[in-house]
Amino acid sequence: MVAIKRQIVSSSVGSRVTSGNSNPQNYITVHQTGNTRAGANAEMHARLQSNGNSRSASWHYQVDDKEAIQSFEHTAQCWAAGDGRGPGNMQSVHVEICINSDGDYVQAVKNGAALVKVLMDQMKLPISRVKQHWDWSGKNCPQQIRAGQKGIGWNDFLELVEGSGEQVAGEVVENKPSKPSTGKKTISQMADEVIAKKHGDGHDNRRKSLGISAAEYEKVRAEVNRRAGVDTSKPAAKPTKEYVQLPASAKTWRTYRTNVQPVAKNSDWSLTPSAFGGLEYEVLARPQKDVVTINTSRGRRNIYVGSNTSARIVRK
Ligand SMILES: [Zn+2]
Repeated sequence: MVAIKRQIVSSSVGSRVTSGNSNPQNYITVHQTGNTRAGANAEMHARLQSNGNSRSASWHYQVDDKEAIQSFEHTAQCWAAGDGRGPGNMQSVHVEICINSDGDYVQAVKNGAALVKVLMDQMKLPISRVKQHWDWSGKNCPQQIRAGQKGIGWNDFLELVEGSGEQVAGEVVENKPSKPSTGKKTISQMADEVIAKKHGDGHDNRRKSLGISAAEYEKVRAEVNRRAGVDTSKPAAKPTKEYVQLPASAKTWRTYRTNVQPVAKNSDWSLTPSAFGGLEYEVLARPQKDVVTINTSRGRRNIYVGSNTSARIVRK
């Protein structure tokens, strides 16, 4: 859990390091400070901004392994993107993640992801509006995330954002995917709710509404199907389906759009079985040997499941 503090800079300082106050808030841009010095944490960066940054630069939030501090209102047009009067400076809210050597790097990145999720919800923006500084001006920033430091690359960061919790009374509650927020509900209770249409239509929508992992959702779905079988007095013999299981020991698993050859350079994203205690998907198609089509949170994707991988295909 990390608090979001407010330490808004004075208008006299603000007017010197921003382009104005008509930011339409169309994007959220992620940075890393580039400052590994001990003590270069959120508090230090917030103080730097409050005192009038010696550089012509500004950003809305700084976040470290312990807290997030807001320095500018979202309406401010901060100078952080290096694109002049382009959309980066004029239309984005900027988040600087601290990399101070006396902080916990991974926790700071997770807190940054949780903050981005809070901002997405506040600003009603989809994940596609979350940008890197690099997107605006080609600067290698957020440098450590872009380099995949500590195993967290940009796609992993976006996954962290999507798995983050909601804002509760001004605080960001971290919601780890492996511990669903609905942990108190049983599979049976969740099945009741799905049948009562409390979670809408479509498997992705329902899973997100329930806030559970794909593996957990499969159990709910199986329970719903089992009851449907009972309630409608269908024959007991149920058709078996094929499922692919990706074990928790697999950190990432490359995905491919269905219109490209499934070779590494064509991969568009990665699943993270380890983050969910393993993942399971229904096999929708087998477009070629050792390749299956599944439905992911980003839509239909192919994955490679050759015998040299740890994937298992099961029927049930
Ligand atoms: Zn940057």
